Amino acid sequence: MKPIDLRSDTLTQPTPAMREAMANAEVGDDVFEEDPTLKKLETLAAKKIGKESALFVPSGTMGNLISVLSHCQRGDEVLLGDRSHIFVHEVGGMAALGGVHPRILRNNEDGTLPLPLIEQSIRQTDIHYPLTRLICLENTHNFCHGTPLSPEYMDSVAVLAAKYGLKIHLDGARLFNAAVALDVEVETLTRQADSVMFCLSKGLSAPVGSLVSGNRDFIQRARKMRKMVGGGMRQAGHLAAAGLVALENLVERLKDDHQNARLLAEQLTVIKGIELDQTQVKTNIIFFKLNHPEIDGDTFLSRLEAKSIKILMTDPGVFRAVLHREVSREQVETVAQTIKTILAQ
Ligand SMILES: *Cc1c(COP(=O)(O)O)cnc(C)c1O
Repeated sequence: MKPIDLRSDTLTQPTPAMREAMANAEVGDDVFEEDPTLKKLETLAAKKIGKESALFVPSGTMGNLISVLSHCQRGDEVLLGDRSHIFVHEVGGMAALGGVHPRILRNNEDGTLPLPLIEQSIRQTDIHYPLTRLICLENTHNFCHGTPLSPEYMDSVAVLAAKYGLKIHLDGARLFNAAVALDVEVETLTRQADSVMFCLSKGLSAPVGSLVSGNRDFIQRARKMRKMVGGGMRQAGHLAAAGLVALENLVERLKDDHQNARLLAEQLTVIKGIELDQTQVKTNIIFFKLNHPEIDGDTFLSRLEAKSIKILMTDPGVFRAVLHREVSREQVETVAQTIKTILAQ
């Protein structure tokens, strides 16, 4: 039996339509900028994000890295959250590869950075100080319960950035989840940012790929940075073909994942031994704590595995479940029922 895999939405397999589009894609050498399918994807992405230009990259991590490198010089400082993916999960790339100095601000529970904290962290001109160059935001915020940042919050950060001449980079790995959850146009969440990264390979189900968007000049620099870090790909249109199917057909259905997340949260909240705040569940990500006198985190995971259910333990006793296209409503019921049975023992 195929397991019910809630570890991540990256586990989604390409759809039959994607596989067909990939097989039949018209391709060329993209380092020569001659891949028609890739160009089509970049044009569509730029339009959806509301920027002049876009660039296909193999991963979200590379997209964030080359964005930071395209905004910053060595020694510049970047403001970002202590729970942000860029700070926690991207191997310190900006420092290791770019000589860029991360300044970590404590994230609020909803993924925002407090505005006064941003403002007081911006450096004055002083011979001792690095130059504050960039603010990075994350929408939806993965490790803050998958919370979407609102257009109003984004606008208020943009006001600060403009006041001090800073750039904004948006890590929008799950940007389309945010737009669907808030029921707003994507552009209302991207107009404040100078650069935006989003992933095709998560809930949108494509096998590989992310896009970076920004103005023409920024994307030109990012294209060169992508080449520098080894991301210049050749007949990448085969990958882009799946991305086109994702952007054209799989955005609206993200709301099914959000519904399933709410359903799972509802059913888990009432189980003894689970601590979960339902009000935090806004998109496709759920975090909960295990609080059971006899069953510890590892035992819980192995008992779930024995029932063909996989979830992720992000800290001892803390779990993340991510809903996606390959988890049905019925399977959500099965997961809740199984957890109930395990914890009743
Ligand atoms: C997954 C993710 C990334 C990185 O994407 P990869 O394709 O896995 O490198 C960046 N930011 C956030 C918020 C993510 O969830």
